[in-house]
Amino acid sequence: MEVFNNLNGLLKFSILDKFPKVLDFVTTRQNPFGYGNNFNIGYSGGDDKETFENRMLLATALVLKPENFVIQTQIHKDNYKIVTEENAGNGFLSKVSAIQGTDILLTNIKHLCLITRSADCTPVLLYSPDVEAVAAVHSGREGTFLGVAAKAAKLLKENFGADFSKMIACIGPSIGKECYEVGYDCAGKFFKNPRFSDNTISQKGEKYFLDLKTMIFDDLTALGLKPGNIEKSAFCTKCDDKKFFSARRGESQRFCAGIMLKK
Ligand SMILES: [Zn+2]
Repeated sequence: MEVFNNLNGLLKFSILDKFPKVLDFVTTRQNPFGYGNNFNIGYSGGDDKETFENRMLLATALVLKPENFVIQTQIHKDNYKIVTEENAGNGFLSKVSAIQGTDILLTNIKHLCLITRSADCTPVLLYSPDVEAVAAVHSGREGTFLGVAAKAAKLLKENFGADFSKMIACIGPSIGKECYEVGYDCAGKFFKNPRFSDNTISQKGEKYFLDLKTMIFDDLTALGLKPGNIEKSAFCTKCDDKKFFSARRGESQRFCAGIMLKK
């Protein structure tokens, strides 16, 4: 990942640099205009007025308008919404207008920026340059268990004719494999599912840890995405308290990732 357009509060995925028709970004807790470190984009954890102002600042930083953005509520399932012009601006100015009950947004319409919010869960962005279509996915523990990122890739194929071998996947900052401790029952659930390789579930003494980013990577390559077409962010949201919000550190604020086809 790298800094977005010299704005220190925003990052982008390096793998998308060579595709001029798509815009991508990941926010951090740093205000992109250089003041404050509580750049909450979520619906909770901060003063509503402040998060609203933060979203407006994000639009300014990206040279976009509120109606360019589409945000979903996210419920740790694998429901999806194919976003159309009618959804322009949904969720950006208020939670009540957000796309309800989905964790996958996809579209082939230009100038609609699909957003996924996160604080430890894994944001995943997909881009299909062959058919010009994008998806934004929220893949936490439950979503990763369900294979929500791979489902989004399949939806890009089914709805827009995308070819897996050309698809680009960006696996964003989330809680790292050294930090994501889960209980015995949870680890057992993943361990019993043959989809997850042993090296994504580790044990240290009495403690169990999951590597969500590698699970998502493995699901996508199993589907036919090329490993070289997948960027996996090295950032751990729990360790990097200067850059990211973290639910495991007790924070309720959210950063976000977004992807948009340019006109
Ligand atoms: Zn960590």
